Amino acid sequence: MTTEPTNALVDTHAHLDAGEFDADRDEVIARAHDTGIGTIITVGTGIESGQHSIELAERYQDILVAIGIHPHAASTTTEADISAIARLAEHPKVVAIGEIGLDFYRNYSPRDSQFRVLQWQLDLAAQINLPVVIHCREAHEEIINVLHDWTSRHPERQPPGVIHCFTGDTETARQYLEMGFYLSLGGYITYPANSNAHDTIRSIPPDRLMVETDCPYLAPQRYRGRRNEPSYVRYTAEELAQIRGVSFEALARETTENARRLFGW
Ligand SMILES: [Zn+2]
Repeated sequence: MTTEPTNALVDTHAHLDAGEFDADRDEVIARAHDTGIGTIITVGTGIESGQHSIELAERYQDILVAIGIHPHAASTTTEADISAIARLAEHPKVVAIGEIGLDFYRNYSPRDSQFRVLQWQLDLAAQINLPVVIHCREAHEEIINVLHDWTSRHPERQPPGVIHCFTGDTETARQYLEMGFYLSLGGYITYPANSNAHDTIRSIPPDRLMVETDCPYLAPQRYRGRRNEPSYVRYTAEELAQIRGVSFEALARETTENARRLFGW
């Protein structure tokens, strides 16, 4: 589909449908391409957000889409909504189910509804054979149990997906990696407080690492507190290359190959 050089970076997790981009979305996307970002995976958080994301992907060749219902919205989600997600996922530019998961930090939805909506969407992903994009905050133990059960029931589905904005420790990373998941890191790795995560970052094998912005949220240190955008993924990649002691080119090539392998383009 794309003609990008293999050392172009991929922003594997953006929310380009967010209102923060309404005034200058085209410029933001153009700027990403000008600064060496090849593909952008834009991630829906609900049905409407998913529809908007698909419309964007229809306008831009290098935008691909993940479709799913965020755990924040779990309490109001019905099985009919999951059927709507399944229909959206039939679009040729949809490459994953996400973001889905558990968020016990904000707890916008009761935990039992979060578990239920996550399970429905994991089942859907297995049924239609798409990888999953996992959101997890303060729920690593619980989500590892759910994912362990799911991956054991579908051992043929490799790789199963990605843990987005991974923030766990080395042992947590090991457990996700053992199940076959990729780990994706964002701009927060450039924050001074994150220096204690460097050993964990170095423990991730080169064939399991991806980069993302999660924009408009989580801008890297130099833009911290401001709107994040896909072109800033390079600051995360530069920091990662330094932490891992590899060249920027090698880091870009590895993370882009990983994204292509997982999302299949
Ligand atoms: Zn996100």
